[in-house]
Amino acid sequence: MTKARGSSRWNKLPGRIRVTPRVSYRVGLVPDLSSEPKIMGEFYDTVRLILLRGTLPDRELRLYLFHELLHAVSDVYDLGLTEKQVAGIERAFRRILRLNPGLRLF
Ligand SMILES: [Zn+2]
Repeated sequence: MTKARGSSRWNKLPGRIRVTPRVSYRVGLVPDLSSEPKIMGEFYDTVRLILLRGTLPDRELRLYLFHELLHAVSDVYDLGLTEKQVAGIERAFRRILRLNPGLRLF
């Protein structure tokens, strides 16, 4: 994992996010996350790790982090959410945040 050196983004982006009191996920920024340009984030349930494409603008980074956290919640709470369901919830919250600019995820 490569940190985005020389950037203040690590000061804003939590390196670890607690999903329950006992379960947390490490979060990392990786400039060259995937050769597939559509992949903006990846979620690894077995090692509880979320990787995000480090070249994303902050706003997009927050949304993709939220997307990957939904996968984590689905895994931890055994919800079995499909990619379509995760994407739908993400889209709905994206709209809620757009309609309510006072709200912030972090
Ligand atoms: Zn997904």
